[in-house]
Amino acid sequence: MNTTWLFLKNMLSISIVCILAIVLGTSCNFKKDIPITEFELDNGSGKAMFKYVERFVEISPRDSGTINAGKAGQWLSREIKRCGLKPQADSWVEQTPRGKIAFCNIFADYPGETEKTIIIGCHYDTKSGIGPTFQGANDGGSTVGVMLELMRQMVEKKVKTKHTIRFAFFDGEECIGDSYSSQNGLHGSTRMANYYYTQKKDILQNVIIIDMVGDKNLVLEIPRNVTPKLAKQAMLAAMENKKAARVSLASTYCIDDHWPFVERGFSAIDFIDYTYGSTPNSKDYWHTLEDTIDKLSPDSLEKTGILVVDVLKLID
Ligand SMILES: [Zn+2]
Repeated sequence: MNTTWLFLKNMLSISIVCILAIVLGTSCNFKKDIPITEFELDNGSGKAMFKYVERFVEISPRDSGTINAGKAGQWLSREIKRCGLKPQADSWVEQTPRGKIAFCNIFADYPGETEKTIIIGCHYDTKSGIGPTFQGANDGGSTVGVMLELMRQMVEKKVKTKHTIRFAFFDGEECIGDSYSSQNGLHGSTRMANYYYTQKKDILQNVIIIDMVGDKNLVLEIPRNVTPKLAKQAMLAAMENKKAARVSLASTYCIDDHWPFVERGFSAIDFIDYTYGSTPNSKDYWHTLEDTIDKLSPDSLEKTGILVVDVLKLID
């Protein structure tokens, strides 16, 4: 297909997402009932999270700049609206090793008592070049389920938070090929980190990123290149609640969506399972056609959700 036509088609698709996000806009001036310290996810939330993932990965693959990426953005906007928040879309075009690509972040703000913000973020794009049946069920899918169900229950239970909670679904986390660079990968998180750095530096307090959290054999780690204070708080939160996912400190750095925030001086953390595979540490499901919904467990999703809530309780 002619590349200009493809580009125009992608831009059209992304414009539709933006228009939809505006049309779907809803008011979030609801009364708040329970303080975040008393908020617990329902027992069995993992099943609801899993259902979200199951439906989301029907749109696969979701490589940035493709028609499917636009569809995924539309789907996210609709689900955010269903949860009772106002979906917002930020789209832009950026140079990549494969030329100019259109990206689109989808996000929603859960209003707190102040404008000071905590971001809970994940990516929704898939790694390109894996194959036409690549689902990215764990990598790009699992976290979408956790975040949407968490958002839904916070709205439903009218949870009171001091901070505004921004649920951010980043596009373009994945790089093209093997190595990240300033023009390759982390596009969506860099875009949002730059926004806060240049326009709302004092507003953004903390960033919690989750990535690949659905493996039946969940091994969540916190990479070394996060904010140490936040890592300590997260470890504490995980230890105090037996229902929460267990986490340990990784021995290595990890380039993920937390990094653009850390680089700009913000407090940020990342929870990631880097062992995703058929046997412990084999990683053979990661970035392969094997990353399918049947490898995920509702239990792992729920435990991750509980962990995020516990960290939120500590830092709000
Ligand atoms: Zn990936």
